[in-house]
Amino acid sequence: MTQTTSPDPIAAAIAVAEPVFAFDNSYARLSSRFYLRQLPTRVASPRLIKLNRPLACDLGLDADALAGHVDLLAGNRIPGGSMPIATAYAGHQFGGFSPQLGDGRAILLGEIIAPDGRFDLQLKGSGPTPFSRRGDGRAALGPVLREFIVSEAMAALGIPTTRALAAVTTGETVHRETALPGAVLTRVASSHIRVGTFQYFAVRKDTEAVRELADHVIARHYPDAAQAPNPYLALLHAIVARQAALIARWMQVGFIHGVMNTDNTSIAGETIDYGPCAFMDAYDPATVLSSIDLHGRYAFANQPTIAQWNLTRLAETLLELLADDKSAAIAQAQSALDGFPQQFMKAYVEGMCRKIGLASVIAGDDALCQDLLDRMADNRADFTLTFRALCDAAQGPVHDQVARALFRDPTAFDTWAIAWRQRLAQEAGTPEQRKAAMQRINPAFIPRNHSVEAAIVAAVERGDYQPFEQLVEVLSRPFDDQPDAAPLALPPRPEEIVRATFCGT
Ligand code: AMP
Ligand code: MG
Repeated sequence: MTQTTSPDPIAAAIAVAEPVFAFDNSYARLSSRFYLRQLPTRVASPRLIKLNRPLACDLGLDADALAGHVDLLAGNRIPGGSMPIATAYAGHQFGGFSPQLGDGRAILLGEIIAPDGRFDLQLKGSGPTPFSRRGDGRAALGPVLREFIVSEAMAALGIPTTRALAAVTTGETVHRETALPGAVLTRVASSHIRVGTFQYFAVRKDTEAVRELADHVIARHYPDAAQAPNPYLALLHAIVARQAALIARWMQVGFIHGVMNTDNTSIAGETIDYGPCAFMDAYDPATVLSSIDLHGRYAFANQPTIAQWNLTRLAETLLELLADDKSAAIAQAQSALDGFPQQFMKAYVEGMCRKIGLASVIAGDDALCQDLLDRMADNRADFTLTFRALCDAAQGPVHDQVARALFRDPTAFDTWAIAWRQRLAQEAGTPEQRKAAMQRINPAFIPRNHSVEAAIVAAVERGDYQPFEQLVEVLSRPFDDQPDAAPLALPPRPEEIVRATFCGT
């Protein structure tokens, strides 16, 4: 973009921009029905709250330069090479279909070409778009900090996720139930393409757009599918596999997404759209923390079933591409979807076995894991602490005190541990090696609700970002014992328990 003769404000804004990112905008090259060109809305007085320097570095960005560009991170200026757009998508929300959602409070600035690949750079909370419906296009500081903390914690746990590059406050007030400070999150994602993006075109019977999107997704995320005899079927299989792996990882750390709508289901298999998400403290598979999940649709234990439901909605959008004959297409889609439970269970059981110190899975191991979980549920044992304590207990019964004390009836642990030790005896490796391996999969630190809440309250009500900073820092090394941060490893005291989380949109 060199010429600014056009009166188009978007072209004008882009043309004067400095090149800060190596942008390439493959999504903006798709046909125009995929998005609307849209500038962020200027904010009064942006202030940088947090720049994620390690992530900036991984993306090949100059963190110091970026820290000096709060105007870019607030949407007040458009970086050179950007093609700002709001993308179109639909979605099933709590089971009900909305044919038009779209980026109502986010602008995709473009894709940066980083050493590790192509990543979307998106401003979330950057003002209204034609997709805003009745919303103001803005984000409040609390939800921005929550997404920052939890998405970065997920990344440090090794779980596929969108990332948080920066958070800025806007100097403006947003009105929710009360007046709150406004903020903008700079989000990084492999892409922001959702199951709902496919649904948007399928419901409009725009098969050519579904095909264009599928081709784009294959090129961008699943290049191997292009070599398959039926690339669209291979694509579906690959997306199913990534979702199965993702949900298994959630279930192994006690993560509850809270709003697993199809518009919040990433085609790239990343955890996306952190709203009223939460980690469980005491293990209870029926846990629901989201204040808007009135019927427990997205309860912890329902997540695999819901993921498969969401994938079924995706498969429906691809039928026209799979085969000319409808029943053949349905049979192919069904075969891909049928793979989900098995792939999920395999990943889940392998991961749970590693959590209890088993490098391989043999017959009976899944029952051993389930027996532990049942006893944890009956005894209100803390999910994270129990598995962390097992790392020590794996060295022998004299190290059992911490683990057994987490159970209301400690003998419930003792009887399980007898069977566990019989099984461990068949494994190779020294106790020290086993402990080290277990500590690499069983975190000491997770973003506990009450700690996240406390960090948000301190920032929003007192302008004190120290608890937020400390939490982000500690959660960047979740598998390390960090004695100085020991209180952050603990479950809430009764008066600290957070029983409901809010998405705050
Ligand atoms: P979410 O709950 O963030 O997954 O968003 C669901 C849909 O509501 C998406 O289409 C969002 O763009 C839209 N949305 C959420 N919050 C706002 C807001 N404050 N202003 C405009 N649109 C919003
Ligand atoms: Mg969403």
